[in-house]
Amino acid sequence: MKTFAILTSGGDSPGMNCAIRAFVRTLIFNGHKALGIRKGYEGLIQNKFIELSASSVGNIMQRGGTILQSSRSEEFKKKEFREIAIKNLKDQGVDGLVVIGGDGSFKGAYKLWEEFNFPVIGIPGTIDNDISGTEYTIGHNTAVETAIQAVDKIRDTAFSHDRVFLIEVMGRNSASIAIKTALCSGAENVILPHQEIDYDEIADSVKRGIQRGKKGSIFIVAEGAREGRSYDIQVKLRDDYQIQSRVCILGHIQRGGSPSPKDRLIASEMGHKSALALLEFTQPLITAVHSGKVIEVNFSDAIHKNNDEDHDYLHIIKTLSI
Ligand code: ADP
Repeated sequence: MKTFAILTSGGDSPGMNCAIRAFVRTLIFNGHKALGIRKGYEGLIQNKFIELSASSVGNIMQRGGTILQSSRSEEFKKKEFREIAIKNLKDQGVDGLVVIGGDGSFKGAYKLWEEFNFPVIGIPGTIDNDISGTEYTIGHNTAVETAIQAVDKIRDTAFSHDRVFLIEVMGRNSASIAIKTALCSGAENVILPHQEIDYDEIADSVKRGIQRGKKGSIFIVAEGAREGRSYDIQVKLRDDYQIQSRVCILGHIQRGGSPSPKDRLIASEMGHKSALALLEFTQPLITAVHSGKVIEVNFSDAIHKNNDEDHDYLHIIKTLSI
């Protein structure tokens, strides 16, 4: 009988619990033992291990967030603390570790392999969908759904009062949530992270809309590196173009909530496959979606990011918002 552990790290995302459940039950089904580590790498350094039974992961699939809780740990970035982490893993008799998280969490996990030869498997879990080596990260679909529902509601007011709305969505440096939300909610345009904002174009599209009797306009703003950039755009539109707008920052409501069927399905398959990958471990891998299927890819492929596929949607958004 072997013992394997799992932790969730970085920003939480809907579907993490499905992956934890699948990991634990696959190990127990195959006669092995599963441990959970509370609060990500911080808990690993502080020795916060708990045994996970089949029943301890019951009734969690439908819950957002992570039952193990998550954290960001500056200490884990230092080798001396990773040495403590490895000692704790060995003292608990752990033969391998699954890390559910984003790009940063994967960098940390990979160091456990590079520095100590400790078996690690990654499961991409972040609403941002910004990990290279996989087409999809757990939680993204639910976050997009939440954002679309919110925009639909705001559109009722935009229409009723002929208003321009700047709706800011999450995603750090990733534009995935913004682009999909814009296309699926019929937004007039999307402002990408790091993009130089073309105010003339925004003003033109508002004026074009008014001329053809459009009631209200919606612009989706990707938050980029800093939450609240919509307020700067609002001021510029008011002062330089005499366009009054309202700002709505969706914020953390996009991170929570019950996972969508897509997230439950992919997370369950990834959790299941991560347990099997540890049982047959030869090298660090991440579970990844390729051409719609869950497979495993080399860990090193996953820690240098850039997912730009969604940019193909940009010209459709522009075309449809005439
Ligand atoms: P995410 O995993 O969602 O991208 P972060 O970038 O905040 O979130 O990373 C989560 C945690 O992963 C960090 O708090 C840190 O403990 C660990 N981590 C990130 N980058 C590194 C690194 N280069 N080396 C070691 N650990 C890292």
